[in-house]
Order: sequence, then structure tokens, then C-alpha cells
Amino acid sequence: MSGRNINFNPGPAALPLDVLKIVQEELLDYRGSGLSILESSHRSKEFEAINDQTIALVREVLGLDEDYHVLFLGGGASTQFALIPMNFAGDGRTAAYVDTGSFANKAMKECEAVSTVHVAFSSKEEKYRRVPDMNEIRYPDDAAYLHLCSNNTIEGTQFWQFPDTGSVPLVADMSSDIASRRLDYKQFSLFYAGAQKNLGPAGVTLVVIRDGFLATARKDLPSMLSYKTHADSKSLYNTPPVFAVYVMKLVLEWIKSKGGLAGVEKLNEAKKDLLYGAIDAAPDFYVGPAEKSGRSWMNVTMRLPTEDLEARFIADAKKEGFVGLKGHRSVGGIRFSIYNAVSLEDIAKTVDFMDRFRRSA
Ligand SMILES: *Cc1c(COP(=O)(O)O)cnc(C)c1O
Repeated sequence: MSGRNINFNPGPAALPLDVLKIVQEELLDYRGSGLSILESSHRSKEFEAINDQTIALVREVLGLDEDYHVLFLGGGASTQFALIPMNFAGDGRTAAYVDTGSFANKAMKECEAVSTVHVAFSSKEEKYRRVPDMNEIRYPDDAAYLHLCSNNTIEGTQFWQFPDTGSVPLVADMSSDIASRRLDYKQFSLFYAGAQKNLGPAGVTLVVIRDGFLATARKDLPSMLSYKTHADSKSLYNTPPVFAVYVMKLVLEWIKSKGGLAGVEKLNEAKKDLLYGAIDAAPDFYVGPAEKSGRSWMNVTMRLPTEDLEARFIADAKKEGFVGLKGHRSVGGIRFSIYNAVSLEDIAKTVDFMDRFRRSA
């Protein structure tokens, strides 16, 4: 497979090569159906089987039971920023938000458009360098829910503990770290993730909702904006992103083949140890802006002594086939997005490049 780069894009992001090969193999004639999955009806028996299997795989890989609805929606994670308050914080209720990064902040702003926000914690004044200690998160007992973003994709921080919210439902944007580590997913009443980071291609958003929480949702919303519509129809109320769901199924099967969440966690731990090790070994040259205790295992951010050096780092890396390293335009610097599909060997090559670059600079 010469010609394939090492892909650090933040999203859409690297997909496992094994998955891409299956897609290629099955593309023209999906399992003897005589059609590509790209041109099959979402009501076909082939797609219904894919839909059912993907729902079952989400439950199996994340350790969920029948108590959770598994939805595949369009509109990206950004649409959920609005649908969550519309469905769960209507009637002038207040929803609590933990503000730890650009996406967490966007989610909060969308809630302001339809409801009232209580800021439970914010590290905005600290340039989002950290996530809170659990005792720093404060919100009213009657909040409609508490929303947080488990991994801050742009800033490179991640939650390693979650608040015990008691009777207040816990809601999480997991777009950039879903299925990357072992986690008790049952502590969440709702969580969601745009697939294009850890689960598949762009176009589908996974939304998982506990049945008891869904029962409290507002009933008077337009059909497409109501989670209940999609839960009642197994996400087949309208045409779902058929191809993206199919690839998500293959990615979930790939995760299982790696030993499930325990297996990918072990790989991700080794990857981040190697990469942060290289950053910390050269503190005068590579500086990780995120507070160490809240460092992300998925998005590793770093600065170099000057913006010129950063630009050279990105250009030289590209010549060697490392792509997608430019930090988000809002923060600058370098960002390695090392989602599940980025291998340990890829990181070993990266660390070797970093060492050579520093010595030649
Ligand atoms: C990428 C990302 C989003 C935005 O997802 P879209 O699917 O583009 O709407 C939201 N939240 C987080 C944490 C992300 O990483």
C-alpha cells in the first residue's frame, strides 16, 4: 500500500486499513445482492440487517443493555447541541454545562438559543488548558441535565473522572473519544458522537439515550427534531446515512477484533505514552500546553518555540508522509489526532521524525 500517508487528521480521520479493504471488496456487489450498498434501499433486507447488527454491536462494544436506544442520525454532533436542549430543557428549565473547550462552549451557546444555561464550570479564562476536578463542578439540583464534552478535540484535554450527578441526568459529547477506552457508559443518560473520528466516515452521528430519560423528552417537537421519532423507528423514519452506518458496523467489528475496548485502550495507552514521552523529553523545544493530569489520549497538542518552526515542522513532516498536523485555527501549534485507527508503528515513526527535526532545527 505505498502512497498511503500517516493520517493525523482530526476528523474526518484515519480509518483502519482492514476496514477500507473490506469496503473496497464489497463495494460493487454487496454480498451477492447484485447492488452496491451505496445504491441499496434503506428498506432492503440487506440494509435492515446492517442496521440491526450495528445497533447490536454498539451495545456489545460499549457494554450497554436493551435499556438504551441506539440512534444513527444526520446533522453531525453540532445538531445534537441544539436537539438536546430542545428535547430535554424546554418549558423554561435550566440546563447545566461544563465549559472546557470550543465544542463544549458551542454546545452551551446552542442551549442558550432555546433554554437557560447554568455554567457549572469553565476553564475558558485559562485558555481551556484543563478539565475540572469533580468538586469544582456546581449546578442546581433541579437542572434538566449536566452536559460535558469528554474529550476536547481542539485543546487536547480529556476527562478521566466523571461527576456522580445523582438524579440529574449526565449527558456527554463523546465525538472524539468514543470507544477508545474502557468506560462505564451506563453512567450517562445520553451520549453522542459524530462518527468521523473514532467510528467511521462523516455523515452519521451516533446518539445513545437511556429509555427512562427519553420518556421525559418534550412531545410537541417537529418529527425530525424529536429523538422519540428516531427511537421508535430504529433510525429509519427517513433515509438514514446508509453507507456511513455500514462502515461504522465494519469499524465496530474491527474494534472487537482488537479485543474490544480493553484492547484498543491498551494500544491507545502505548501510543500516547510514546508521543507524550517524546514531547516531555525535549521540554525546551516541544511544549504540551494541556495540563498533564487532563491530557488527551486522542488529540495530542504541542507548541514549538516559534510559529516559523511550527510551520517548518508541518511542512517537513508532510514530505515524509505525516499529514493533518496543523493545530486548529483557533489555537495554532501542532495537533496529533491519534484515534483508534492510528497504529503504534505510526507513532514510533513520528517520534523518530520529531527527534530528527529537533536536532536539525
Ligand atoms: C468534531 C466534533 C464536533 C463537531 O462534529 P460535527 O459532526 O462536525 O458536527 C463536536 N464535538 C466534538 C467533541 C468534536 O470533536
